[in-house]
Amino acid sequence: MSSTRGDALVVGGGVIGVTSAFRLARAGWRVTLFDPSPGTGATWAAAGMIAPGAEISSGEEENYRQQLGALSAWREVSRDLYEVTGTELDLCENGTLLVGFDASDRRLIDQFEGVAHSFGAKPLRVLREDCDEMFEDVSAGIREGLFLASDAWVDPDQVVALLARANDALGVDVVRQQVLSASSQNNQVEVTTAEGSWRADVGILATGASPLPRGVAERVAKAVRPVRGTTVRVRGPDRSSRPMLRAYVRGRSFYMVSRPGGYGVLGASSDEHQDILVEVGELQRLLRDALDVVPSLESASFVETRQGLRPASNDLAPFFEIVQDRWAWSSGHYRHGVTLAPLAANQALGFAQSLS
Ligand SMILES: Cc1cc2nc3c(=O)[nH]c(=O)nc-3n(C[C@H](O)[C@H](O)[C@H](O)COP(=O)(O)OP(=O)(O)OC[C@H]3O[C@@H](n4cnc5c(N)ncnc54)[C@H](O)[C@@H]3O)c2cc1C
Repeated sequence: MSSTRGDALVVGGGVIGVTSAFRLARAGWRVTLFDPSPGTGATWAAAGMIAPGAEISSGEEENYRQQLGALSAWREVSRDLYEVTGTELDLCENGTLLVGFDASDRRLIDQFEGVAHSFGAKPLRVLREDCDEMFEDVSAGIREGLFLASDAWVDPDQVVALLARANDALGVDVVRQQVLSASSQNNQVEVTTAEGSWRADVGILATGASPLPRGVAERVAKAVRPVRGTTVRVRGPDRSSRPMLRAYVRGRSFYMVSRPGGYGVLGASSDEHQDILVEVGELQRLLRDALDVVPSLESASFVETRQGLRPASNDLAPFFEIVQDRWAWSSGHYRHGVTLAPLAANQALGFAQSLS
């Protein structure tokens, strides 16, 4: 494919890297993407919620505002993907039902409602007796909740697969190698792997929670730390036509995202660890919470667990840091990388265009 804009390197093929590569390639950049194993980082473990409403958290108002723009950005990506691949992205916009398991969890719901209102969000109080369908499969003891209408989900597996097809169609070159060093000189960026080196006009670092390659690692002002998370995958009740389910259970947070056919994603643990492993206690708590809120999961079949390292910055906010003139580092997306990927991709394109 002939380049009309220039050449771009993207290091990292998680949701941030592949979406950025797509946006750049769509806009006429000739893109080379580096990843020894695309789509297997935090993106692989993610549930795919685009849930600014349910993710409201005290002290994270700026984060909430950023996420509000994400759904329309995803609709645009979905249209673009359809144009390039002829395949529709499943973007399910059924909202979230948030419930509390016991009396103290219901107090957490009241507090959540107060924070939501202070952010200008408008969660709706719903009673089981008025919205029976919404509460289907939810424990009979839970009689009320909050409905957050503007939440949605995508399936990260489908997102990564569809973007890979689209990127292939747009001529994105995928190099399945780890980038060892990155530098820039004479208005060019350069990367080296164990097998060679590549140059281009602009570079995007989208390595998630992994350490940056040599050459740029020493120059950045920001920092990320890994926060491990586990999701459990089951085949059970098909709630895909219902809202996503969120619950406070004995003070912990639980969610269930149901895809058509009954494939369910239960989540998620959160630990300040960088070892990719599943602790038995962590798994037990997650499944106990799941069964308490959705008793019909008792007969669901277990599929697998998935783990990933969320890239968290010091202030838990995502960033797009310009390093060494022609390199930018797009990271810190923490719990919201899938949600924010199209916005990060827009930043990557804006940065590249500002240099051309
Ligand atoms: C359990 C769990 C559930 C989550 N649920 C959600 C959710 O529902 N909604 C949401 O919005 N977000 C969710 N997240 C957060 C989201 O998954 C992350 O924020 C997002 O995946 C970060 O994307 P990334 O591309 O920056 O990183 P990653 O997906 O980790 O990708 C980074 C990639 O860079 C590659 N790489 C690293 N170093 C190099 C190098 N030197 N050379 C080449 N390649 C390199 C890696 O191989 C990897 O593929 C969840 C996360 C977890 C762990």
